Amino acid sequence: RKAEAEKNRSVSNLRAAVICVLGHVDTGKTKILDKLRRTSVQAGEAGGITQQIGATNVPIENIKEQTKIVRGISQTEFRIPGLLIIDTPGHASFSNLRSRGSSLCDMAILVVDIMHGLEEQTIESLNLLKAKKTPFVVALNKIDRLYDWSTMSRKDVRDIISSQGPNTQNEFQTRTKQVILQFAEQGMNAALFYENPDPKTYVSLVPTSAITGEGMGNLLALLVTNCQSMLAKRLMFSEELQATVLEVKAITGLGTTIDCILVNGRLREGDTVVMATSDGGSIVTQIRSLLMPQPMKELRVKNDYIEHKEVVAAQGVKIAAKDLEKVIAGKILSVESGGVVCSGQPIISGLNILVARSPDEVEICKEEVVKDLARELGRIKLQDRGVLVQASTLGSLEALLEFLKDSKIPYSSVKIGPVVKRDVMKASSMLERENQYGTILAFDVKVERDAQELADQLGVKIFQADIIYHLFDQFTAHREQLKQQLRQQNKHVAVFPCKLRILPQYVFNSRDPIVMGVIVEDGIVCVGTPICVQSKEDPSQFLDLGIVSSIESNHKSVETARRGLEVCIKIENAGDSAPKMFGRHFDEKDMLLSKISRQSIDACKEYFREDLIKGDWQLMVELKKLFQIL
Ligand code: GDP
Repeated sequence: RKAEAEKNRSVSNLRAAVICVLGHVDTGKTKILDKLRRTSVQAGEAGGITQQIGATNVPIENIKEQTKIVRGISQTEFRIPGLLIIDTPGHASFSNLRSRGSSLCDMAILVVDIMHGLEEQTIESLNLLKAKKTPFVVALNKIDRLYDWSTMSRKDVRDIISSQGPNTQNEFQTRTKQVILQFAEQGMNAALFYENPDPKTYVSLVPTSAITGEGMGNLLALLVTNCQSMLAKRLMFSEELQATVLEVKAITGLGTTIDCILVNGRLREGDTVVMATSDGGSIVTQIRSLLMPQPMKELRVKNDYIEHKEVVAAQGVKIAAKDLEKVIAGKILSVESGGVVCSGQPIISGLNILVARSPDEVEICKEEVVKDLARELGRIKLQDRGVLVQASTLGSLEALLEFLKDSKIPYSSVKIGPVVKRDVMKASSMLERENQYGTILAFDVKVERDAQELADQLGVKIFQADIIYHLFDQFTAHREQLKQQLRQQNKHVAVFPCKLRILPQYVFNSRDPIVMGVIVEDGIVCVGTPICVQSKEDPSQFLDLGIVSSIESNHKSVETARRGLEVCIKIENAGDSAPKMFGRHFDEKDMLLSKISRQSIDACKEYFREDLIKGDWQLMVELKKLFQIL
């Protein structure tokens, strides 16, 4: 069947291209989607936040209408039947659109605010696009905010820009250059779409305003022409089904449904579909109805769906079927040290749907979806020591893990689903091994109240966020705080190495306390450093003079003094032996040395590595030999 489907593909029968919108928060992703769809979803949603997942099919007729103003468009032959735009901006939708590691998204729009340039999540998105090798165009948005911009809608954006005043054009050029430079810093060539020397190696920037609509026609035109020129092969319609679940949703009157993106092939009412479930198994069920929104309407704005007997790719479609609720009532899946342990909710988001065309295909499909799931989970490599990671879907989990890997934060366990008591127990066992890893990073999932209470009791930290960077910031702040705590606790154990030469003309008090001028010959002397001298009778023995209780440099009290400085120090007897006296027990021919030990060396290495420079470590080695520390 596969071979036959492949044979029947042709460039004269293309499917709609699947488009995703990514970018930093507030760059205008929602507004751009909105304009592309010419509906007003943002205004209808609380705070303009888009939380739902769906897609809009923009038919080619509509695109033709919207691109009429684009210069030279009349020469373009439109060969794709339209664009299927995924409604939820951001990563989650992008990384949900995955198939065996690659992305089902054909082309992406990366939105950059021209006033801000590349921002944290722009780079995060860029890395995702690179990793999945997804081609993209950049919407250089909010051009209407350039100084003295005069709006001229219904025109090609090139003409709009060249009709601006000189100051506005200047600012446009400067900011665009800046963005191009920032792309170069990320290792990418970028150019304005009308100056692009080679669209295969340079990413195109399209100046847009999602508010005035300027440039939106150019953006659509570029998407279509790029898709046709670069992706014609990929966009050839195939009868081989390629469909991905984006979201599982309970809808009143319909029961549990799944929103899915049909990327290739067709689905028919009554088809037997097979999908992976959380328990590492699969469900087999018949499609009761295929539901689609009205043309040019977002998938879930209202519940007025049209039923279809058959849906042909590429489209966003809602599937109603029996047993989906059973799957939901199932268990949460988690992966622990390699093995798959199952309990809880389904994680079908991002995994493929298969259709069994005949009864004997059912078993084959079941095996395949189970294998697919195991393969996805098997990819995840866990560390013995590391944070615990939980996310809402396989796609969002993957995005987070990718980021943690790049940030060198190890993870010891991953799970899909909310944080429950059991997870906290697991984190607490990590706490015993290494404090900082007694942490759960909860990405876009709930934390049950009793789990939080238990965490507070046990000292397990749970960080919860729906933006990866926020989780990262919280965790790194926590790690820094733990580090400072440990440094504080180990301040007295860690002894920095120093070698001090006595300045005999500046001995102010010869005993109890000893107060004298010294020159720091090597290393670093600190308040709190224990001081000793080598015994004259037995060079393997050392006399303890006491602990440095204050240091004065140029009549100012200081905490530390480095090599080369002349300072006055006060050494107080630690009380464990009789006070030693300058002139009797030791004299100016003796070097004052910090008294180090195995324990102090270890503490320095563990908590104060950055405080000591190379020369200090060399002295440490010298003293270690002298004191015969193993
Ligand atoms: P998202 O977080 O990337 O989805 O950004 P939104 O689409 O919610 O936009 C963030 C804010 O920027 C909103 O207040 C929008 O009205 C505004 N905005 C978006 N696009 C433009 C634009 O092209 N020009 C101007 N002036 N404002 C814009």
